[in-house]
Amino acid sequence: MNTLGTSENPLQVAVVGSGPSGFYAAEALIKSGRAVRVGMFERLASPFGLVRSGVAPDHPKLKQAILVYDKIARAPEFSFFGNINVGKDIMLGELHQNYHAVLFTCGAETDRRLGISGEDLRGSHTATELVGWYNGHPDYRDRVFDLSHEVAVIIGQGNVAADVCRILAKTADELKHTDISEHALDTLAESKVREIHAIGRRGPAQAKFTSRELREFGELGDCDPGVDALELTLNPESEAELADKNNVVSAKNVEIFRDFARRTPSKHRRCIFQFLRGPVRLEGTGRLERVVLERNRLQGAPFQQSARGTGEISTLECGILFRSIGYKGVAVSEAPFDKRNGVMPNRAGRVLDSDGSVVPGLYCAGWIKRGPTGIIGTNRACSVETVGSLLADLDALATRDAKSGMAGVRALIEQRGLRAVNYDGWLKLDAAEVERGKLKGKPREKFTRLHEMLALLG
Ligand code: NAP
Repeated sequence: MNTLGTSENPLQVAVVGSGPSGFYAAEALIKSGRAVRVGMFERLASPFGLVRSGVAPDHPKLKQAILVYDKIARAPEFSFFGNINVGKDIMLGELHQNYHAVLFTCGAETDRRLGISGEDLRGSHTATELVGWYNGHPDYRDRVFDLSHEVAVIIGQGNVAADVCRILAKTADELKHTDISEHALDTLAESKVREIHAIGRRGPAQAKFTSRELREFGELGDCDPGVDALELTLNPESEAELADKNNVVSAKNVEIFRDFARRTPSKHRRCIFQFLRGPVRLEGTGRLERVVLERNRLQGAPFQQSARGTGEISTLECGILFRSIGYKGVAVSEAPFDKRNGVMPNRAGRVLDSDGSVVPGLYCAGWIKRGPTGIIGTNRACSVETVGSLLADLDALATRDAKSGMAGVRALIEQRGLRAVNYDGWLKLDAAEVERGKLKGKPREKFTRLHEMLALLG
């Protein structure tokens, strides 16, 4: 048998998931100098993961990453299998039969839970649901959000919470020329929400917003930011955190909060940032009516401060609430999974089994590898590390017979009567979405239902 990674015996890699980490892994493989073939599997008919269905519609610059992914997808070494769910349509064992290595880049598909009573009351939602809904993700297309109430609460102070608050705060005019899905725009245009409360369990110095995202709240068309100046008094440990040169984002954030606290509100809506408050329970008869909050204090050394309840309780009447406290990975059948942390146990991207030994031919990158942290670009270095591990294992991955890769998988797809969407198919859908958007002055109007997409592809 010829050496693996040569034109006679190309390295065949299956990448599971088509978000940023999947594309950066494909790029690192294709640019590795070895002969490779990459098959990318995606359960949706459309590629690009959270860049398509997570990034907020009013942040089009962040979506420009798609231009890079598109170039990678057009490489001759690359093939796309959309609408194929690994673990259901095709099993991991079958990928192993056809590829030398399987690299999971399937992200963190579910949410962490608060674990408090009332969490599942009608009117209490996860941020993921709202984000998927306004971004036209088929799984969330039919979710219903009752925006007939004046007060909305968001638990958590990360960038996802910022997106949710901002989309609720913006007017329909501010959103109508974005790629927000039509069904969401129609509902948001009728929204009665006037007060949005973004609640952090820790202090202003520990909020996880990036400063650019936070600053946007001071620039909205019909919404003022609100902060109570008294809440910006910091304990010495937080002052020490802000004095640290590596913590400029938090120092900037506190400056921005101080600016917000000085403003006099004049607009129709307000987005109020509250700190040191943790939800104790959600209450209501049949549906959410209020959130019960406990005042917290910080405990611990700088950068290790955690929130501790003080016993001081308050209530906030609200009609809708979004939990935005971080994502969590979901297990893929047959692959090892660390339930507690929601990741695949791994060492530099090599997946480990329950006794800590490396599972041959199995790798991971992105949020399923390191948890849901970092911005889009963070995934590039993460995927490069994993691909480095994979290439270092080349000798061990070599098999006696060549792997059939795409051809083998195509045969399985045909046998099972599955409707895979290839990259040309996606380009056709993409062009149709752009065309639909033109009529409304939008960059695109997304398809939100699989059957519409498959019908268009014939
Ligand atoms: P995140 O940044 O980890 O923020 C989670 C928030 O939830 C934190 O404020 C956290 O507080 C809070 N929280 C966690 N558990 C809680 C609990 N039990 N009770 C109350 N509050 C709790 O997560 P994310 O907002 O989901 O964002 C995920 C990643 O995507 C981040 O890296 C983010 O920067 C990135 N992202 C970036 C953009 C962008 O660049 N525009 C947009 C969206 C997302 P503690 O700090 O106390 O844990």
